Amino acid sequence: MNLPGRPNGEYRSAQRDGSPASAAPAADVAGRIAGTVRPDILGLAAYPVAHAEGCIKLDAMECPYELPEAVRDDIARAVRDTALNRYPSADLSGLQAAVKTAFGIPDAADVLFGNGSDELIHIMVQACCNPGDVVLSPWPSFVYFDMAARFDHARFVGVPLTPDLTLDLPAMLAAIREHQPKVVFLATPNNPTGGLWSPEDVDAIVRAAPGLVVLDEAYQPFAGHTWMPGVLDAPNVVVMRTVSKIGLAGLRFGYLAGHPAWIAELNKVRPPYNLNVLTQATLLAVLRHKPVLDEQAARMRADREPLAAALAQLPGVRVFPSAANFILVRFSGKLDGNAVHLALKTRKILIRNFSNAHPLLADCLRISVGAPAENAALLSALQEILSA
Ligand code: PMP
Repeated sequence: MNLPGRPNGEYRSAQRDGSPASAAPAADVAGRIAGTVRPDILGLAAYPVAHAEGCIKLDAMECPYELPEAVRDDIARAVRDTALNRYPSADLSGLQAAVKTAFGIPDAADVLFGNGSDELIHIMVQACCNPGDVVLSPWPSFVYFDMAARFDHARFVGVPLTPDLTLDLPAMLAAIREHQPKVVFLATPNNPTGGLWSPEDVDAIVRAAPGLVVLDEAYQPFAGHTWMPGVLDAPNVVVMRTVSKIGLAGLRFGYLAGHPAWIAELNKVRPPYNLNVLTQATLLAVLRHKPVLDEQAARMRADREPLAAALAQLPGVRVFPSAANFILVRFSGKLDGNAVHLALKTRKILIRNFSNAHPLLADCLRISVGAPAENAALLSALQEILSA
């Protein structure tokens, strides 16, 4: 590169600060970054994803089961016949129809697809919020509601849950009155606590909210309750879901259902071609085997209560009720949450540590429901750790 004012090749010799030959000196890069990147971004850590090679992975609410051979064969065929030299088609009607049928979305609703529901969260904040407008959610909840709001220049307000980690409806209604949020995110069941908010509470929030209310049903397949049939009943509700928890986390596909007029506005902010052709082809193939996904979710749901009961038997462990495919537990015995998390990590069992994330989550760890052998390995490791 021939930089203005610098003879070509100036940066090609070895750097005294150890940075690779031909790269700009690290101090110059750091200076430019400090003067350019937003201070709030400089102060952040990237979304944490643990290295999981050789570990029992119970930290990310994935489905522990791989797809059956017949489904994988169908995927292979679909992917082989997909043209990679072209951008994705503008016509998503085939996929939209398949998704609406597979997931019980009312005929009169429209859908918007995201590269994971993470992307849909951004799209809604970007479409609705001027800089400084409020995005509100019960808190603690899914950490990306806060991150996405901040990245998109909105102001995030988290309304504390009760000490039992249930929804504090009076506090929510007061915060909505005070902050007039453009967007309210309600994850139900909630991550990382597992609680399902009552229909009456959700109704009250929807009625009080002046802007959009996003019912995030990422964990709905494990809950036995959905807002989807009534998604068109209120003028300000959309329902968001993902396939990540039912066996397809690697695919990165989330969908949003709502009134066609809402979806049309949100669609304007969607990055062009956000859903790649391989995701589309794979999803179409997998949805022809939808009962396989349902059966996997049913297995995780059935395994949740025995796991919760066994965890509750351990000394000094409090189990919070869960309607999702994970269980939040608090450790208050001889070892605190950090110590238990580390001891499990040493035994190559990954779960998510929330001990330092929020005062309401002190000493709390979140455990995904795994395959039966994984759950058994976790329980025996915990028995050993807690009785040592
Ligand atoms: N919503 C909630 C409540 C979640 O917990 C998650 C993932 N942990 C997501 C949305 C995002 O899911 P994805 O981007 O995988 O679709």
